[in-house]
Amino acid sequence: MQLDSKIPDGPLSEKWDRHRFELKLVNPANKTKSKIIVVGTGLAGASASATLAELGYEVMTFCIQDSPRRAHSIAAQGGINAAKNYQNDGDSIWRLFYDTIKGGDFRSSEANVYRLAQISNNIIDQCVAQGVPFAREYGGQLANRSFGGALVSRTFYARGQTGQQLLLGAYGSLSRQIAAGKVKLFTRREMLDLVVIDGKARGIIARNLVSGELEKHAADAVVLASGGYGNAFYLSTNAMGSNISAAFASYRKGASFANPCFIQIHPTCIPVHGTYQSKLTLMSESLRNDGRVWVPRSPEDKRAPNQIPETERDYYLEEKYPRFGNLVPRDVASRSAKVQCDMGKGVGDTRLAVYLDLTDAIEKDGRDVITRKYGNLFEMYKKITAQDPYETPMMIYPAVHYTMGGLWVDYNLMSTIPGLFVLGEANFSDHGANRLGASALMQGLADGYFIIPYTIGDYLAKSSHDTAREDHSAFNESSLQVETRIKKLLSIGGKRTVDDFHRELGHILWENCGMTRKEKDLKKAKKLIADLRAEFWENVLVGGTGKGFNQSLEKAGRVADFLQFGELMVMDALERKESCGCHFNEDFQTDEHEALRDDENFCHVSAWEYRGEGSRPKFHKEPLEFENVELTQRSYK
Ligand SMILES: Cc1cc2nc3c(=O)[nH]c(=O)nc-3n(C[C@H](O)[C@H](O)[C@H](O)COP(=O)(O)OP(=O)(O)OC[C@H]3O[C@@H](n4cnc5c(N)ncnc54)[C@H](O)[C@@H]3O)c2cc1C
Repeated sequence: MQLDSKIPDGPLSEKWDRHRFELKLVNPANKTKSKIIVVGTGLAGASASATLAELGYEVMTFCIQDSPRRAHSIAAQGGINAAKNYQNDGDSIWRLFYDTIKGGDFRSSEANVYRLAQISNNIIDQCVAQGVPFAREYGGQLANRSFGGALVSRTFYARGQTGQQLLLGAYGSLSRQIAAGKVKLFTRREMLDLVVIDGKARGIIARNLVSGELEKHAADAVVLASGGYGNAFYLSTNAMGSNISAAFASYRKGASFANPCFIQIHPTCIPVHGTYQSKLTLMSESLRNDGRVWVPRSPEDKRAPNQIPETERDYYLEEKYPRFGNLVPRDVASRSAKVQCDMGKGVGDTRLAVYLDLTDAIEKDGRDVITRKYGNLFEMYKKITAQDPYETPMMIYPAVHYTMGGLWVDYNLMSTIPGLFVLGEANFSDHGANRLGASALMQGLADGYFIIPYTIGDYLAKSSHDTAREDHSAFNESSLQVETRIKKLLSIGGKRTVDDFHRELGHILWENCGMTRKEKDLKKAKKLIADLRAEFWENVLVGGTGKGFNQSLEKAGRVADFLQFGELMVMDALERKESCGCHFNEDFQTDEHEALRDDENFCHVSAWEYRGEGSRPKFHKEPLEFENVELTQRSYK
């Protein structure tokens, strides 16, 4: 397997322009002859489908929900970054690039991140033109707020519902193309396999989740925008349907998987409250603009928060990181919360929580201002916890939130399978070892609106292949494999539910490959997951049949993939003998307990190649070269 990043030569700031010029264009008359499958209707998939159809391609779009609008992107709360510098506070494309590459602890590629920063400004223009109701200042200018890891205000937002508003914008554009007949929409479909013919991605096998039928769909290229894999941990802030199956099926067919152990733990989530909880809720990072994080100074202090005087509170982020304070990046804030709780200073019944307190902000700006900025988040918190954050500080604790790893892609967003492109959270491309807040929406929309329309054209213009047909033997073989697996799952008739296995997998991963890791625990986890996977295939109970709507069956397939993927994640974590960003291996830390990178030996992307059931995947390194920034120890002090 060759990992050729195809990063263009030339100065950083000119690479993308030059590359766009050098990419081949498809004759507009020929675009109508090319069929493209897009899997996913989140921000990445919806923006890609709408834009490709607008260009003239025939697009077939798939999602597992009953409407594209229910994709997980709808949940995004806090905002989207762009280097507009409306605040005149020192922002620039270069600063957004630098913050992002530093935020990712120097484990992403300069060229990709610079392009992302460049495109960020186009995204805001595009969304404003669509009518996305971003928050505005009194004079009409778009408003900005700050997010972690940056000292400038560059985050555009629509209250705490930015993802929803951006997705409605993309959905509007998508609907226009559906009405024009350029996009054929397949809802309630789950891609279960990628069909590869002569080494190229030429279609998918999808299950109709209502009728149970297996469908074959052929195309000239496949675009995967199927989201992230945080739900491997069972409890996460992700939508319940988020899964790894489409990406993992592609991995099994030859797409390399990059940096699977890079998992972002978000510092501000509503803490776990019980064993049978199935979902965690995020409290947006935007709250850290105005909120102050603290714990009681003494572990013995069990008083209610408003009875603890200022002098007896430990505002640990402000004290340890005076420059960034409460706005340190997520990995730093999460680990700091864990350290406080490990010292016994956690609050609440479980002692696994810290306070996020907006009292000062309410006093300073008034309740109305705070309600305008965060009203829906406060409401959500109150509904879930029965506590009113206007009256008492919120309690928060870190939780799994986002996955920086994903299918490996080159600068054109093409995987190691020609014709398979991967966008949004499903790829690994831009965030390195840690994602800064408000940069996932930016990346998904950059990929969908502004990158794939150019790069897929180049692929199609250079490809010479026959029109793929669903009666090709490769479709029959794939379909048969999918059918056999479904039958196997239904036939086991064991004693444990799918959720029970999933919960146990999540527990193993959280305890051993979560916020902090160490070699001994990772080795233990590897064995535990392998045993659990073996038991799953002997003892899982999947009720019903394959002939219709069957959520137990849907989940079983996804959990089977999470189990296999969990082993890969742990393997990757074991291989990376350094700490960087969210991958915090306790054996590698500075005297001040910060992540200690090893640039000499680990300044690379780890990419894994599938080599068949039962065989260890092959490990590849893609070196990361830095010509424009100096690799420094990350400091937010
Ligand atoms: C609570 C929350 C708040 C967030 N807030 C922010 C924020 O403020 N700013 C920010 O930048 N980021 C935020 N993020 C992260 C961001 O929302 C996601 O990274 C981003 O929306 C992912 O978009 P996507 O298009 O890649 O995938 P998704 O939105 O996850 O969409 C995946 C799509 O793929 C489809 N799909 C999946 N598997 C299959 C399959 N096998 N077959 C067919 N279809 C399939 C799904 O149906 C769906 O349509 C937040 C995340 C969470 C969880």
